[in-house]
Amino acid sequence: MLNNLEDDVFNKIIAFAHLTDRTCGLKHSKEDPSKEHPAIDYLCQNVGNKLTGEYVEQLQIPICKECVEALSDEDWILMYCLKCNNSQWIYRPKAKKNYPEGNLVYWLNECPHCIKVNDTYNKEN
Ligand SMILES: [Zn+2]
Ligand SMILES: [Zn+2]
Repeated sequence: MLNNLEDDVFNKIIAFAHLTDRTCGLKHSKEDPSKEHPAIDYLCQNVGNKLTGEYVEQLQIPICKECVEALSDEDWILMYCLKCNNSQWIYRPKAKKNYPEGNLVYWLNECPHCIKVNDTYNKEN
């Protein structure tokens, strides 16, 4: 029987085999869209059941070289919505709010985009 670590390694090999034809899953500018950026790595996040604290699945977002660099740059903060898969980069020196120090990735259960969609939906009904 495979233990968890071997499982992880195995999943990673499978995932990387599929990486060749993937493009970046994070937000880029309209002039330079994500589909122009080949993925070179994955950003992984365990998505769990909040009540039990158990991990249900691992989210794997293909990311490009630029995004890998931005993720290790403390000037950039990434917001990622688990509901609609929209992402948003925040440039720390220009951020309106004060964020704690360090490299930050925020995993949101709902983002302004989701709320807007909900609003529209409610108005139409
Ligand atoms: Zn990217
Ligand atoms: Zn969203």
